[in-house]
Amino acid sequence: MDVGRKKDIGGSEMPITVSKIREEGNIYYFLVKGVSNSFINSIRRAMMNNVPTFAIENVRIYENSSSLFDEFIAHRLALIPLSYSGSKIKEGEKIKILLEAEGPGTVYSKELKSTDPKLEVVSKSIPIIKLKKGQKIKMELEAVAGVGKEHAKWQPATVSFSETAELKISKECNLCGKCIEVCPRNVLEKKANKIVLQNPYDCTLCKECEEKCPKKAIEISAVQNSFVLVIEPHGHMPLPELINQTAEALKGKIQEFKKEIAKKIK
Ligand code: SF4
Ligand code: SF4
Repeated sequence: MDVGRKKDIGGSEMPITVSKIREEGNIYYFLVKGVSNSFINSIRRAMMNNVPTFAIENVRIYENSSSLFDEFIAHRLALIPLSYSGSKIKEGEKIKILLEAEGPGTVYSKELKSTDPKLEVVSKSIPIIKLKKGQKIKMELEAVAGVGKEHAKWQPATVSFSETAELKISKECNLCGKCIEVCPRNVLEKKANKIVLQNPYDCTLCKECEEKCPKKAIEISAVQNSFVLVIEPHGHMPLPELINQTAEALKGKIQEFKKEIAKKIK
């Protein structure tokens, strides 16, 4: 999929392309070509730090006869991921949640009762506390919309990226197989009397193969402007929505920057 031109972000004429490499559970791997290191890093940072989500921020405790301190329970509650199916979330928005339980038994995240049906727990089976017979908790919580740069509990995803690799083998290679043996990622193989990189996206560019080659016949290097972007959403919103929100967050930052610059050069 051709999604634009790199000149739009200050680079060459190379087209920007994105393709999905694979999906493992809820982890998505994309191959992104035609962008700079700083551009892909801006996407990563905006996705993790600037997309608003809901998380429990304020806890009013009416009763807690459990064996855990109030602060301990509050900390656990804050880390429970919440999803919101309403329109765009604005930083600072608040939604009340109620929690009341009596032992014996384990209190799970499904017991959190939101006063807005659009706000739900991502997983209903996160244990919060174990209560013995007669022990009770009663609290009123406030989920507040915030961003990951303030606290990790608001991060909607874990995002990383890495360079992709390309391989060159010189005619000195005698097919001894040492490079295949030492590769910690098992990405090299012998095919039709040649050493090939069968998975350039899993190579970490550790250069172990180069160091251990007795003939110095192997060269492995990063491909210019080509990255593997790995996104692991935490369930706050579907991936397409997360990508839209990231683009919005970046756009907002650029507009802010434009405004500030305009003020200085009036
Ligand atoms: S270690 Fe060097 S010589 Fe041996 S197969 Fe690999 S590239 Fe060829
Ligand atoms: S650089 Fe490291 S991971 Fe990549 S092929 Fe060589 S040994 Fe394997």
